[in-house]
Amino acid sequence: MPTTDEKKLTLDAVIVGAGFAGLYMLYRLRGLGLSAGVFEAGKGVGGTWYWNRYPGARCDVESMDYSYSFSDELQQEWRWTERYSAQPEILKYINHVADRFDLRRDITLETRVTSAVFDEAASRWTVRTDRGHDISAQFCIMATGCLSSTQEPKFERLESFTGKWYHTGRWPHEGVDFTGQRVGVIGTGSSAIQSIPIIAAQAKRLFVFQRTPNYSVPAHNAPLDPEYEKIVKANYAEFRRQARESRVGFVMEKNDASALEVAPDVRAREYETRWKRGGLGFSSTFNDILFNQAANQTAADFFGAKIRSIVRDPVVADTLTPKTYPLGTKRLCVDTNYYATFNRDNVTLVDLRKTPIERITPDGLRTSKQDYQLDSIVFAIGFDAMTGALLAVDIRGRGGRTLRDKWAEGPKTYLGLSMAGFPNLFTITGPGSPSVLSNMIVSIEQHADWIADCIDYLRTNGRRSIEAMADAENEWVQHVNDVGHMTLYPQANSWYMGANIPGKPRIFMPYIGGVGVYRQRCDEVTAKGYEGFTLA
Ligand code: NAP
Repeated sequence: MPTTDEKKLTLDAVIVGAGFAGLYMLYRLRGLGLSAGVFEAGKGVGGTWYWNRYPGARCDVESMDYSYSFSDELQQEWRWTERYSAQPEILKYINHVADRFDLRRDITLETRVTSAVFDEAASRWTVRTDRGHDISAQFCIMATGCLSSTQEPKFERLESFTGKWYHTGRWPHEGVDFTGQRVGVIGTGSSAIQSIPIIAAQAKRLFVFQRTPNYSVPAHNAPLDPEYEKIVKANYAEFRRQARESRVGFVMEKNDASALEVAPDVRAREYETRWKRGGLGFSSTFNDILFNQAANQTAADFFGAKIRSIVRDPVVADTLTPKTYPLGTKRLCVDTNYYATFNRDNVTLVDLRKTPIERITPDGLRTSKQDYQLDSIVFAIGFDAMTGALLAVDIRGRGGRTLRDKWAEGPKTYLGLSMAGFPNLFTITGPGSPSVLSNMIVSIEQHADWIADCIDYLRTNGRRSIEAMADAENEWVQHVNDVGHMTLYPQANSWYMGANIPGKPRIFMPYIGGVGVYRQRCDEVTAKGYEGFTLA
């Protein structure tokens, strides 16, 4: 890509976003000899790991799994320091990758893509940015991330607050020192659960405003065991193969037994073992936890007992215990000292179900019961997940139809990769693919590889465009929905269901058929000459 300030550009491909997905996509397209440009709103590369700098931000997937597999030299040479990597280390890794593979020369930072419009006559996309770029590209690839569009805090009178407020997903780069402060954290999802213990240790007082309690499993984070690292590195190819063929993009110990068929003492022992091991594997302790309400209840009961054993005040313990949705149907959280933090004298849990927030005040916030004096408010209220970042760009396909219009009743894609009416537009880890139910890097690499191979196929076969057929798309949407409804997931008011954003259609958005099964399906589509697509 030209390194000048030139704004009118002609490229083979525009890639939107410079996170893990955008970087690897660029690497692949360059390898094919395409001219590709990445446009990124942030001042640096890293996507989710660039923005989410809140205290305690850490990946819930283990370091040896949560890394690129495309370069053996990279995976052999890079050394992770902890079992679960913290945000600064992951950001350092992404920057290392950008330098190591000389990617920066094709990345334009601090530039937000505002629109992408398909020109039917030319069969090309016109992509515009907030810095005046006007780019003509054959392909437009959305690498915008599933959890990048933050949910804006819409609390009455927020503008009257005289203290400082922060969103976990847009944390200040210089960090925040809460020493001596009265802090309020609103929300108790993964971001809150990671940051609360650290803020509690720093602040004078911490008020946690909880609307819905979450299930959180201990991380048992530790320095990475050098023996484990050695074993994985000696067998990395096989380790990665198993991850690609697994259900969630990393190997979790499976148990083919039903929670309801084993004796109560065996069941309790299994849960205890998983709890001690820590991490996301807890929800696969038995094969029916995510499918059968009664099985799920046994896991939830174990959880309730655990919380009661950690949290000294029984009322607080009860408030922290989820009761309104099955375990695992909202993203399981992984923590370090979360529940124990509520034993601290300076921490107060406020149950918003009983006393909702009425409004923000100049010096804090008011619930239906009382005023809280706060110096800072942390909004850990999540994201307009999966569709938010895509719909933030004014995308117009055939006949000028907007993506917003096409998705008015919920996202519709073929394989989570492409859409009828939007030729040569690809979505990396789009809705309808395993994405957020998987190790994102495994899913990102699979999608970027599929897209690169597809573009290569088009070029070597003298084709100009590829477009999903409406029938294939409808069948896929139905399949995603059917499989989702075989599980307990749709019962929760989760961001998977779009339920966290007022007015958003209630649809189970990711594909839960499993990473390995999904990959096979994509490969079959390719093998059958792009079955379900029209090539022109
Ligand atoms: P989240 O899971 O959507 O949690 C948002 C929290 O804010 C929920 O407790 C929600 O309550 C609450 N909330 C939202 N609006 C509110 C309002 N108006 N008033 C009061 N409470 C409100 O968001 P997140 O914690 O940022 O996590 C999002 C996802 O990012 C995670 O599920 C995970 O996939 C990913 N993530 C991963 C990691 C990791 O790998 N370590 C870390 C952080 C995030 P309700 O439940 O009642 O809506």
